[in-house]
Parts: sequence; C-alpha cells; structure tokens
Amino acid sequence: MLEDKNQEKTDLENLGEFGLIEHLTKHFSINHKTTFKGIGDDAAVLDFKEKQTVVSTDLLIEGVHFDLSYMPLKHLGYKAVMVNLSDIYAMNAKATQITVSIAVSNRFPLEALEELYAGIALATKSYNVDLVGGDTTSSLTGLIISITAIGEANEDEIVYRSGAKANDLLVVTGDLGGAYMGLQVLEREKEVFKVNPNSQPDLEPYSYIVERQLKPEARRDISELLNKLEVRPTSMIDISDGLSSEILHLCKQSNVGCNLFEDKIPLDPTVISACEEFKMDGTLVALSGGEDYELLFTIDQKEFPKIKGNPNLTVVGHMTAENEGAHLISRNNSKIPLTAQGWNSFAKT
Ligand code: ADP
Ligand code: MG
Repeated sequence: MLEDKNQEKTDLENLGEFGLIEHLTKHFSINHKTTFKGIGDDAAVLDFKEKQTVVSTDLLIEGVHFDLSYMPLKHLGYKAVMVNLSDIYAMNAKATQITVSIAVSNRFPLEALEELYAGIALATKSYNVDLVGGDTTSSLTGLIISITAIGEANEDEIVYRSGAKANDLLVVTGDLGGAYMGLQVLEREKEVFKVNPNSQPDLEPYSYIVERQLKPEARRDISELLNKLEVRPTSMIDISDGLSSEILHLCKQSNVGCNLFEDKIPLDPTVISACEEFKMDGTLVALSGGEDYELLFTIDQKEFPKIKGNPNLTVVGHMTAENEGAHLISRNNSKIPLTAQGWNSFAKT
C-alpha cells in the first residue's frame, strides 16, 4: 500500500519494446518437451502428439479486476497466472504453457513491470509451466493483463461441465468465502489509509483471508488426488464467481437440478469471524463472493467411500432431475431457489 519514494524508476521509453520484452523474459526457462519453440519467433510452436490440447484465456483490467492500491504487482502477476491455471485444472488437464500480454501506461516504470514478472516467474516455477510468448503494448491509462494458459490431457481424462447426472454427489475442494472477506478487509484498510496515511494496519489476524485474496493457489493437486483415489468426476468447474453461479452452470450444461445443503458449505473459522465482524452472512459470501479458485465437481454416489473423510473434499449436496430446479436447503430446512447472486430471497432487498 505504501509507495517507497526512494525506489529507482526507469522510464519504459529508455528501453524500447524489444529491450523491454528481452529484459522481462530472459530469465524464464523452458521445461516441457511439448514446448518446441518458446519466445523469440513470430509464434511459439507446441507439439502435444496424441494428446488433446486445452486452451483458456482471461483478461484483467486495472480498476475493474484489480486495485493496485492494495494489490502488490508481484501478487498480481502471480494471481493472474493462477486464475488461468485454475481453468485448465477444472478440465482435469495438466497445465503446460502460458502466454502473457500486457498493455501499460507510461505511469509504470520498468521496476513495476519487473515486480509483475517476478510474480509471473514464481507462478511458472511453482506450477511448472513454460512462458512461451505474449505481446507488449502501451495503454492510455492503467494496466491490462491477458494470460492464455495451455494444457494437455488424454481425451478420456477431460472433464466437462456437462456430464453431471441426477443423484450424483456435489463436491467442493478447500473452503469458500475467504477471498471475498480478504477483499473486505483490504477495502476497509484502504479507506482508513485515505483518512490517516500514517496508520499501520494490523492484518495479522486476517492473514489467511487476505492471502486468499492476494495470493490464491490454483488446485493443481486435485487432479492428482482424484487419480490416486481412482475417482473420475462426471462434471467439473472452477469456483471463480461464487458457488451458486458455478452450480447453476453445472446444472444448465448437464440438464440437472441440485440440492445444496447450507450446513455443509465449508467455511474457514477466520471467514466466519470476519463475517461476524463485517455483519455479513457466511453462506451468502460463499455463494456469491467469488475468487476462491477452488474446484466444484460431481461424482457418482457409489464413489463416496473413496472420498469420505478426505480433508480436501466436502460433499455439499447432490444433483436432482432437471425439473426439480436448483435449491439451497437452509439450516432450518427450508428450500430456497438458487440464483446467480446467491439465493433469490435476497433479490428483493
Ligand atoms: P510480434 O511483432 O510478432 O508481435 P513481438 O516483438 O511482440 O512480436 O514479440 C517478440 C517475442 O516476444 C514473441 O515470441 C512474443 O511472443 C514474445 N513476447 C512479446 N511480449 C511478451 C510478453 N509481455 N511476455 C512474454 N513474451 C512476450
Ligand atoms: Mg507483438
């Protein structure tokens, strides 16, 4: 949040476009055999032989998707990669390459882009993906980042949104709502900072949820875990927008309904305490908050013994016939229709 006034600043103009690309990308190494040619020609060349290739792109705009007043650039670079890898993992595929395109205004010095690329580099290393290209251009205001992630899978391994069947169990990884509550804490500190720039926020009690917002991890481990358990999901999606809209995607594309049980939704204790502090409803935060980058999938009921008791996996409901619709079964056992915003009793207010 605090800007160091003594930091060195190098104008991007001094480098030129090619100098900048070379400077930002020279320390990246190629680790995948499928990367035939990486950065340096008009196009990268990839060779997946008999595998299928999965491709996914996201576009992030300053002021819309991120706020640099509390998002350090290194974290932004890391998170931008995670957002994309999450989509590849949601196909049950292995992520292998990314491209990174940026548009920057002249308010950003070279050192700022170095920070951004330090985060990208950390992500490519930790998740073993090759940076194989991108594009670099200027923008009139602000920073724009677009990342494309590429992955591979055998045809029979890929899991679509469309394979869920009535009576399948609905399973979520990790816990939900943390990223949204972390954002609430950061937004509050930003307001405090505006009033009193000398205030030193104590974010320690919120470290888990702030980290969920600033440094999310994509669930690369789940595909491996499910393989080990010999469980193949019938459908899968990543939770980028909140549990309820992702459930509705699975329902729509699989032509099924769903019963989601409120008391099963996994919430971390720090999410519950932050919800109390901010006077928010934990269930609504999990349903509508977004940015958790957990995975949501369905499995055949007979697979239940294989996942039972696994600390990474929580059964939160089951799919039904399409004509039954998608509902939240609340703690007091009422049946409330799910909407993309949460549940529809909130739509009126
Ligand atoms: P072109 O003129 O064909 O668009 P560029 O000069 O933009 O080529 O890019 C040269 C090489 O550098 C290409 O391999 C391109 O993919 C890569 N590249 C350009 N910008 C970036 C970036 N921001 N991050 C990573 N690689 C990049
Ligand atoms: Mg270019």
